[in-house]
Amino acid sequence: MNILLIGSGGREHALAWKIDQSPLVDVVHSTPGNPGMDVIGPCFDVAADDIDNLVKLTLQVEPDLIVIGPEAPLALGLADVLRARGFDVFGPSKKAAQLESSKAFSKGRMKAYGVPTAAYGEFTSPELAKAFLRTMEAPYVLKADGLAAGKGVVIAETLEEADTEVDEMLSGKHGDASATLVIEEFMHGEEASIFVITDGEGAVYLPAAQDHKRVGDGDTGPNTGGMGAYAPAPVVTPAIMDRIKAEIVQPMLKGMAADGMPYQGVLYVGVMVTEEGPKVVEFNARFGDPECQALMKGLAGDIVPAILASATNGLVGNEDAFESLLELERFEPTATVVLANKGYPGSYSKGSVINGLTDANNLPGVTVFQAGTDRDSENAIVAVGGRVLNVTASGDTLKEAVDRAYAGVDRIDWPEGFCRRDIGWRALK
Ligand code: AMP
Repeated sequence: MNILLIGSGGREHALAWKIDQSPLVDVVHSTPGNPGMDVIGPCFDVAADDIDNLVKLTLQVEPDLIVIGPEAPLALGLADVLRARGFDVFGPSKKAAQLESSKAFSKGRMKAYGVPTAAYGEFTSPELAKAFLRTMEAPYVLKADGLAAGKGVVIAETLEEADTEVDEMLSGKHGDASATLVIEEFMHGEEASIFVITDGEGAVYLPAAQDHKRVGDGDTGPNTGGMGAYAPAPVVTPAIMDRIKAEIVQPMLKGMAADGMPYQGVLYVGVMVTEEGPKVVEFNARFGDPECQALMKGLAGDIVPAILASATNGLVGNEDAFESLLELERFEPTATVVLANKGYPGSYSKGSVINGLTDANNLPGVTVFQAGTDRDSENAIVAVGGRVLNVTASGDTLKEAVDRAYAGVDRIDWPEGFCRRDIGWRALK
């Protein structure tokens, strides 16, 4: 098969690396890709949100399967446009992707299908939003309705702070994305990320993962896109996983299909494991970054049959066969450590040279996935983004995986980079 993969982050490098290992696959084309991906297969220079040119490129490449990595093209309807042209696409329709692109839509569907989540209200008026806040207890959770590059959620400790946030969001802090505001109950518990590969009806579940959103050790400092992840996450016991399947995923898939927007692709369920059981924090319409890097590295089997079946409605009724091809029972504990540019998630410099990637990749169990990297005029790898490298390692135990990942980090010569030193702490404690 000839694959076209859309995106350029660590998630997409990990997907390209894993898909390329499948005996079913001849070539993985990527666009726009990154310096880690162009050694796997050809990269093109069409951006992941340039829908017209992505369609043109697809007609040129004629892939057997298209894999859409990030949320932006999904929210813009790329999967619909390509399916209408007869292509097999791994990724949900624009309507189904609203589970990520609109928090109000997502909360509305959960309510309609009886899926456990935080109680909430949805507002366009600051007065009504503030009145609602006065019926809630601190801390207050405020969310911009639309996609806001991971910056749309604010947890306010005081009413005063929450009121200010209401005014800022509703007067355009995130443009149209914050024209509607969702305010919800704060849930206590431990978070986990669940990934479900589905054709809208059948579902195959990957091992539970956990990411580390705060920039600093001990979960301190501002939120980021994710500073590391590991899998499997022991907080999701088999009993909790059974509840997630029965109380969250199955009713969502059934409800979305019955409402004429079957969900086809990977569904990311952000779960809070509370005292009352698992509740949904959010849905995303794609793999998590950096959870994807840990999952792809840890998977022993072939992921291509499951994603092809998701794209071609062949999953339902054959879940056991796809799970056995994934060889989930042989999944190796895996951790990924993000190396970010100093200053991230604030401003940072671009163009610093990174050395030692080959040394790190040669260590046992280690693979470095690239994200915000480029090549300079002398062909050196340079940092151009906030999150730059994902040093990923598997091992017999999570402890070994984490130690190997940090051994990889220590081989990388990049003085302008930094990382958290406590990835996996909840599972290791
Ligand atoms: P979201 O983008 O909706 O996942 O929110 C970002 C982060 O905010 C989540 O990963 C949680 O850590 C936190 N969060 C969001 N909603 C809640 C909630 N209702 N209760 C507690 N924490 C929350």
